[in-house]
Amino acid sequence: MQAVTMERGVLTKIEQPDPVPQRGEVLVKSISCGICGSDLHAARHTEDFVNTSREAGGAFKLTTFNPVILGHEFCAEVVDYGPNTERSVAPGQLVCAAPVLLREPMEPVGYSDKIPGGFAQYMLLSESLIVPVPSGCNADLAALTEPMAVGLHAVNKAQLSAKETILIIGAGPVGLAIITALKQINTGPIIVSDFSPGRRKLAEAIGADIVIDPSDTDPYQEPALRKREGVVIFECVGIPGMIDQIFLGAPKNAKIMIVGVCLQQDYIRPLIAINKELSLHFMLGWSMEEFTQSLRYIAEGKFNVAPLITGRTSLDGVASTFESLATPNDQAKVLVKPWD
Ligand SMILES: [Zn+2]
Repeated sequence: MQAVTMERGVLTKIEQPDPVPQRGEVLVKSISCGICGSDLHAARHTEDFVNTSREAGGAFKLTTFNPVILGHEFCAEVVDYGPNTERSVAPGQLVCAAPVLLREPMEPVGYSDKIPGGFAQYMLLSESLIVPVPSGCNADLAALTEPMAVGLHAVNKAQLSAKETILIIGAGPVGLAIITALKQINTGPIIVSDFSPGRRKLAEAIGADIVIDPSDTDPYQEPALRKREGVVIFECVGIPGMIDQIFLGAPKNAKIMIVGVCLQQDYIRPLIAINKELSLHFMLGWSMEEFTQSLRYIAEGKFNVAPLITGRTSLDGVASTFESLATPNDQAKVLVKPWD
């Protein structure tokens, strides 16, 4: 099969044998697989990513310098089953799945040097973790299940009372997923700040009430931030200095949700947060329930994800796409199509 490997930031298209499903595993075709901010981080800062993942003991991140086939935001088609499986889903059916393979030890799909991720024509999934895609929902939309579940989880974690003003810093895929999830609940005005005009336009199109270009307007001076009963700020950028900047800008008693993933050492000045009695929350991923709900909402059209897909590429174009996504851009979700 064809695949793209990543080794210390170098992406290479290769030919390798098809994977063989073991006990409890399903062989699937990867039909559509999103490029995640974490994939870009892994390619651009492999050293930091691996070292931080190893220290954190995280099963979901990259812990090897060997070549890996990235891709954990996939929609796939069932092809065949390994031994000891119930063959619960018919071949030809589209599925999404939690990106882990339940081996001993567990293999993270998309960050493993032993099994392929979604930037390959074939992959292996654990049968117990696959979720069938409802009929009528196409693979490209379903591929957004994982990133949308991240937004849903962040919103659930914020435990909103519907009275707060929301400020989202960064309208990349994560920020846009949060807006989409917020639109399902009754919430106060949604203010979004991003340097990219394309992303601001997208944020507005999917329901942001106020969009701000931080290069000419200070988002923290937005009057709506001072009108409501509380302020919740979602940090969706994940670069050093962001949290301290939010401390400086946030109004008193604001709740800060850290969704952006910063790999480097960062500094904050606690005194600023102490003075304002800010609260700071960190979160990771989603629950299986949120994952399934995300897929259902996409299929039902409650999560309008089509506008978030701003590009598609074959395996041949993965390396150049990573390059173009590495610098500031107007893209939201770009999908890799291994069979195109
Ligand atoms: Zn991701």
